[in-house]
Amino acid sequence: MLDRSQPLTLTDKERIRYSRHLFLPEVGETGQVLLKRAHVVVVGCGGLGSPALFYLAASGIGTLTFIDDDEIELSNLQRQILYKINHLGQSKAKAAEKVLASLNNHITLAPIVGKVNNDTIARYLQGADCVLDCSDSFTTRYVINRYCQANRIPLVAGAAQGLQGQVMAFDFRGDSPCYECLFPQDLSANNETPAQNCDTLGVLSPLLGIIGAQQALLAIKLLLKQAPLSHVAFFDGMTLLQNTISLKRDSDCPCCAASKKG
Ligand SMILES: [Zn+2]
Repeated sequence: MLDRSQPLTLTDKERIRYSRHLFLPEVGETGQVLLKRAHVVVVGCGGLGSPALFYLAASGIGTLTFIDDDEIELSNLQRQILYKINHLGQSKAKAAEKVLASLNNHITLAPIVGKVNNDTIARYLQGADCVLDCSDSFTTRYVINRYCQANRIPLVAGAAQGLQGQVMAFDFRGDSPCYECLFPQDLSANNETPAQNCDTLGVLSPLLGIIGAQQALLAIKLLLKQAPLSHVAFFDGMTLLQNTISLKRDSDCPCCAASKKG
């Protein structure tokens, strides 16, 4: 797990590996060390988690925890780009560990075969500097949001369906809104019918890459303290237009109200 004792410098090999980051004034050696010291937790190793994990690992996030209780099926290979045909039947988290380890041997990988719920979340998200919600269930999304809101852990959530995608960032600084401000739970609860489960809906494969990569980008910006204010971006895969909207806290949001009392 997270090794906070890692040295505050980069090795010679890391300087070569991350040289294109070191050239950037927005990252540089100071920023790369921040990424090396960071612990990011990714919930869901599917269509969004695959590209997000690839880019986070390649970028040199020092500790990556990733959580999924599913096994790889043939229909996953259309979009879940971490996996190959020889991974069929294997645990997603375990297969992801093998692939990511072959990409970057300078980082710590912590796969968890499990499900995020009220009983497991504190254990699974312990020590996270940033959380990526790449799950495909409203129930899981609200559990993650509540935990991150209460513990002020920056959260980046993504969603994609058909040719439409969304990516949301909540930095939980000051009066930051939360996922539940944007999607009140009572409305969404009625929407999660079996017919709308991601297993039975279509999604255009590269859309997951666009949204998942944006989640990784936002996580890095949050870790480098260069995050924009909390916002939601809507991406249209038909027109290629993206509309980004700043978010404000909903005064009626029960999640934010609970956190205020606490
Ligand atoms: Zn809220």
